[in-house]
Amino acid sequence: MVDKTSPTAQPALRSLLPEELSSLLVGAGFEAYRGKQVFQWLHAKSVRSIDEMVNVPKKLRDWLSENTRLGGATALLDERRSDDGSSKFLFQFADGRKVESVLMPDPKRAFFTMCVSSQVGCAVDCKFCLTGRNGFFRNMTADEIADQVLWARRILRERDPDAIFRNIVYMGMGEPLLNTAAVVRSIRLLTHSEGADFSPRRITVSTSGILPGLAELAAAETNVGLAISLNAVTQELREQVMPITRKYPLDELLEAAANFPLRPGRRITFEYVLLAGVNDSIEDARIMARILRGIPCKINLIPFNANPLLPYARPEREQVDRFQEVLSAARYTVSTRWSKAQDVSGACGNLATEFRQGGGVRAGAAAPAAVASASEGHDLDFFTAGLADDEED
Ligand code: SF4
Repeated sequence: MVDKTSPTAQPALRSLLPEELSSLLVGAGFEAYRGKQVFQWLHAKSVRSIDEMVNVPKKLRDWLSENTRLGGATALLDERRSDDGSSKFLFQFADGRKVESVLMPDPKRAFFTMCVSSQVGCAVDCKFCLTGRNGFFRNMTADEIADQVLWARRILRERDPDAIFRNIVYMGMGEPLLNTAAVVRSIRLLTHSEGADFSPRRITVSTSGILPGLAELAAAETNVGLAISLNAVTQELREQVMPITRKYPLDELLEAAANFPLRPGRRITFEYVLLAGVNDSIEDARIMARILRGIPCKINLIPFNANPLLPYARPEREQVDRFQEVLSAARYTVSTRWSKAQDVSGACGNLATEFRQGGGVRAGAAAPAAVASASEGHDLDFFTAGLADDEED
């Protein structure tokens, strides 16, 4: 399935909200209500070509074909299906860049959660993540982010009309809050009642703790959930495993988390990748219990998924259990997530290695534009599989 997208300056239809489409079309001499109609085709039905908009007059379809492009992904290059019901998708965009996304069922296969990418590559360089090792290529646009969901949802519907596509988590490749404007716009597109109509409470944005982006997301009043990758409970250790945190100190992050506007009854999720002998001690668990006190939150423990390219190991199950017990005894809601989709390389920290070619930049290195033509491909930062399936509201 390939759309007619070309890398031109033409407006990307899938990036526009209904009122924006209306003003574009009115400016070209068409009726305003056609904007809503086109938006419905693009977002509710996820058409892959303008000709699929069968109730749109031929004259308007011709004008759209000549003067606009669809936007979003131009091709679905690959889908690998796991025995556990997960699918790993490889999408390509108009400039040839690629990202992966994962659609995964909850344990009872009652509903699905989509993990989307927000950047091609990532500049954050977390030491336990293969995406970080390969650098950053470019930000994704709002239509590219949203289209991962739209395309996968269409596939799921065709495969199983009764399947429930329920949650979206921004936890794939990239740091969403280093691309906050596009992420916020993609949320507005995906939650629009004339389109895919997702509930904001079924959407979670995950961040390594980018404070300016956190403030921007809070100000946007999207009502989505927030997950924070904590991964260490002292500033010193955090800087070792997540070097970007030198710019965004732990105490300021915890303060921002405490003040983040949440819907009533909703809690922040703190994600914690357990690295054997690094951050998995009982003392670490006790410190975590202390520093999170007072923040409405739950904790998601993710035993590291070992990879020969990374210098960390997965803790023993007994150690994971002991760590969890300390937090449970301190009255936190804690869950441990073991990776899914391992038979299709879709597990945490292992995604897309077969597509990886390297060549990006990391935080503090060259400007993104300098690598616009670099070879690309990364694995996903997918260490929070299933997060949204335990949302409480
Ligand atoms: S864990 Fe997330 S923020 Fe860190 S390098 Fe990987 S993709 Fe980037």
